[in-house]
Amino acid sequence: MRFKSLSELKRPELREISLATLPQSITMAHYAREKAFRINQLVLTVYEKSLEWYGFTLGTTGKPDLITDIGLPRNDLNLQDYTTLGSERIAEFQETLPEDTIINGWIHSHGALMYRHFSNTDEKNHLVVLDFVAASLRRPVAKREIAIKDLVFLQEDQFVEEDLAAGSVCLITDVPITAATIMETIYGSFCYAIVIGDEGWHEQQIHYRENGVLSGHTTLSSRKAEIILVDTGKVFTRLDISALRDEVEEKIQPNTNPPVEMMERM
Ligand SMILES: [Zn+2]
Repeated sequence: MRFKSLSELKRPELREISLATLPQSITMAHYAREKAFRINQLVLTVYEKSLEWYGFTLGTTGKPDLITDIGLPRNDLNLQDYTTLGSERIAEFQETLPEDTIINGWIHSHGALMYRHFSNTDEKNHLVVLDFVAASLRRPVAKREIAIKDLVFLQEDQFVEEDLAAGSVCLITDVPITAATIMETIYGSFCYAIVIGDEGWHEQQIHYRENGVLSGHTTLSSRKAEIILVDTGKVFTRLDISALRDEVEEKIQPNTNPPVEMMERM
């Protein structure tokens, strides 16, 4: 038999059913958005200059997709360290959170810089955060068929050890069978990434990881995402501002020894 073209040699479609979807846009409480820009304002008030800072976007175990708050960890004096946002740092911060609060992403400010995009360093940080939050945000997103070449069927108590040498996968069943479809659960997780600036601009992405439980096949992807603001009833009060000012003073410090390469550390 001759094929007209290679496209005719397509493998049969593998079965897949969708179980859940990962967020395609970022839902954020008005409160959280206001808090992020308030931090920028407070940095200007407290230090009389713009500083870059980073924090975490927070959700709850009940509503992990919604950003309800912004968590401010102690920002490093040394921005060289800050660029390599490590999982230990994130874990340290996670431990300070109430039990029902989870990290669902990270946010940082480019301050007054005209660089209004994620940098290469930011791209590395996305993956560190995704890796850390994946476990708490993971959900079964699909059941997908695994194509197994040379699947061998054996019946319990009816084979000898040498029979196990054949094929790529052996399926041992209690009754004789001749065909089987094996479908694995695909777990998906995500993390939000938001970058903001003093002038009120913001850009954001969602990073995804999908992992097949049996095949171990992992895919990473990302997309630009819109922010959908929602009203959670929580408003920013004068008391909140005063508490946040204290936090800014305590956790964000001017970098006294800035590296030469500005772009590198964003
Ligand atoms: Zn950046």
